[in-house]
Amino acid sequence: MDLKGKTALVTGSTSGIGLGIATRLAEAGANLILNGFGDSEAAKAEVGRFGGQVGYHSADLSRPEEIADLFTYAERDFGGVDILVNNAGIQHVAPVEAFPVEKWDAIIAINLSSVFHATRLALPGMKQRGWGRIVNIASVHGLVGSAQKSAYVAAKHGVVGLTKVVALETADCNVTCNALCPGWVLTPLVQQQIDARAAVDGDTERARRELLEEKQPSLEFVTPAQLGELTLFLCSDAAAQVRGAAWNVDGGWLAR
Ligand code: NAD
Repeated sequence: MDLKGKTALVTGSTSGIGLGIATRLAEAGANLILNGFGDSEAAKAEVGRFGGQVGYHSADLSRPEEIADLFTYAERDFGGVDILVNNAGIQHVAPVEAFPVEKWDAIIAINLSSVFHATRLALPGMKQRGWGRIVNIASVHGLVGSAQKSAYVAAKHGVVGLTKVVALETADCNVTCNALCPGWVLTPLVQQQIDARAAVDGDTERARRELLEEKQPSLEFVTPAQLGELTLFLCSDAAAQVRGAAWNVDGGWLAR
């Protein structure tokens, strides 16, 4: 698939899944706008290997005005966004009655409201140019719950719902909106949860194995590269009638 001439914005693309997706889209020829709080120079070097234009914007996605700045930058330096991958996200684990209110607000802002803001800012240009792809990185937690993850599960269910509404509102044009719903992917976000489990007895390998055994029957992590490949597929003509899907990529998590 040739994405030459298209510009992709991947939020939260300085590490993990976002960096994997950005790398695959760049390899397919797209220009890339990166974002996130990690090492932006390393991410630019990784994505820049394929010769396309690569930019970076440091917008904090919990702030609507910074998301607007990001789109002003995209319009000015890239001529707009053709592929929007809403990926930035954070996690916090605690029971509802002990869940810090500021963590709830941050997770809803970054994992859910930013998807609304980026989508509303991307759609006019996509419709005007007659082509667009929106891929929301939701989670299996957009489809089922897990204890101690109230804000994350609520936000990801919200992303799946928003995906369906945007798909309906774009059904009459060549703009599609879909969600990928990964199970466990070994990224910094999940490593933190493994480290928290290992803190009890110091056995990181056992913590990693038990994390998989609880939920993911394949006992293997999904990889950012696999999610990059699926995102590329959703950008293809073959996927033009895939609309409003919430595609679980979870080693069998939801099959039980
Ligand atoms: P990660 O921590 O490696 O990456 C998160 C990215 O988001 C980083 O670039 C980080 O800097 C950025 N970010 C965080 N807060 C931000 C903010 N306020 N503004 C801008 N950028 C911000 O985590 P990941 O595992 O790669 O997660 C990426 C997405 O995938 C998240 O939405 C997450 O919920 C989702 N997801 C992850 C898994 C998993 O197992 N890792 C599973 C399902 C879904």
